[in-house]
Amino acid sequence: MEDICVGDVIRLKKPHPCGSAEWEVLRVGMDFRLRCKGCGRLVLVPRKQVEKSFRGKIVENSTKK
Ligand SMILES: [Zn+2]
Repeated sequence: MEDICVGDVIRLKKPHPCGSAEWEVLRVGMDFRLRCKGCGRLVLVPRKQVEKSFRGKIVENSTKK
């Protein structure tokens, strides 16, 4: 799958209860720290689950590398 980096905005298969399926990546590792783009809620999601429900990038962090 695509490499997910801090600062990216990704789309996941399962939308948040607020209706948004877009998440800003705040931290990567064994668990991903994500912020919902709809309501701003912070969640911690296991990497495996992120990879399984990953549906593409909305925004690529342009400041990396
Ligand atoms: Zn939300």
